[in-house]
Amino acid sequence: MTRQHRVSPLVLFIISVLFFSCTGGPIVSRPPRSLEAPAPGNVPTVRVLILESNRDIELDLPLADITARGAEGRVTGTFGIKGKISVGKAGRGIRISRRGKKICEASVLEIKPVKAEPLAVENVSYRGYLRLNPDRGMIQVVNVIEIDDYIKGVLPAEIGYLRPEQYQAYRAQAIASRSYALSKLKEKKGEPFDLRSTIMDQVYKGVKGENPAASRAVDDTGGMVGEWGGEPITAYYSSCCGGYTADIRVGWPWKAHYPYLFGGRDAATPKGNSFCRDSRHFRWKAHWSGDELRDILRKTLPAEIGERVALFRKLIDIKVEGYSRSGRVKALKIVTDGGSYRIEGDRVRWVLRPRSATGPILRSTLFKITVKRAGGRIQSVDLVGGGNGHGVGMCQAGTIKMAQMGYSAEEILFHYYPGITLKRIY
Ligand SMILES: [Zn+2]
Repeated sequence: MTRQHRVSPLVLFIISVLFFSCTGGPIVSRPPRSLEAPAPGNVPTVRVLILESNRDIELDLPLADITARGAEGRVTGTFGIKGKISVGKAGRGIRISRRGKKICEASVLEIKPVKAEPLAVENVSYRGYLRLNPDRGMIQVVNVIEIDDYIKGVLPAEIGYLRPEQYQAYRAQAIASRSYALSKLKEKKGEPFDLRSTIMDQVYKGVKGENPAASRAVDDTGGMVGEWGGEPITAYYSSCCGGYTADIRVGWPWKAHYPYLFGGRDAATPKGNSFCRDSRHFRWKAHWSGDELRDILRKTLPAEIGERVALFRKLIDIKVEGYSRSGRVKALKIVTDGGSYRIEGDRVRWVLRPRSATGPILRSTLFKITVKRAGGRIQSVDLVGGGNGHGVGMCQAGTIKMAQMGYSAEEILFHYYPGITLKRIY
């Protein structure tokens, strides 16, 4: 159906506001457009979870089409709307209301701007369109968006605001972020979203997160992805590797082990200066008294390894069980008067929190430990460490430095993900 055969969206809007009630059946009915149809030029779309809430969510819409669906996916209503609305829980479904008055109830809602204008969710603007669905007492708001528009909202949040001479770092990050997002599409097929808008995947801030130089880098790498074995690479990256990127087999033994994530020296030659040496995270220290660390571990240990932790009074010992080639701690053994516990790989960072049990996690597992004991218990623990983040894949501090030194984005990516190929896929 072409647009000129439709009733004007403004008319639909007026009708909807005056008469619409989808519990009684749709007043305006038309076949829904296929929401999964590929976008022009076959640019893939991604589904990003931007909000999960059990409270009412405020939306501010440009002229938009709403499609309401029942639990079994059947369309129960379609109508046009514009302006502020709120969505909240209604039994097992979702209720749309305006100024406290119910407009519609549905199991799933799709909200598509008529003219590709951004729509606002809780005052944050997003491109693309929205899909809302209930999930265990919450409403999930999913932003369905062309992958490059999504990456434009990711780049500055993930790698910061760069200077013009660091532009190749934006290009490298654009290709890494695009590859990572594409690798998730397959993995999450059949689930309600592909990516979270947090550090769990990539931080995504919508239109407000965009910046012209970063957006230019996304456009001029459009369609470029890193591939390995014919598939987009799971392009992990972190803030600073401390001079040696981590081996995924050590950091995340529970994840898929691709050879381009086995780690290596972050330098032009094995004995050269580390690319990330100017980062403020390159070297760091942490210190706890025995009692401080005991109090922290009493909370972080059960949170990380579950119910098996008995309440202990004494912290007896902490031992590193092996170092990886990159110098990262493979596992940590914590001995208390209530029992001994072993923490593996990157999980160590969630347990050894430097300031408090709820404060920031430890910067990295690249550290040496000094434990002072007296009277059968620990007096103090000191760490000298390097890097910030899991250290797997691309080192962002090194990427920025390499860009400044004149390396291209392609050279940067081959350095951090050895063995991959780069390809333009759309
Ligand atoms: Zn590095």
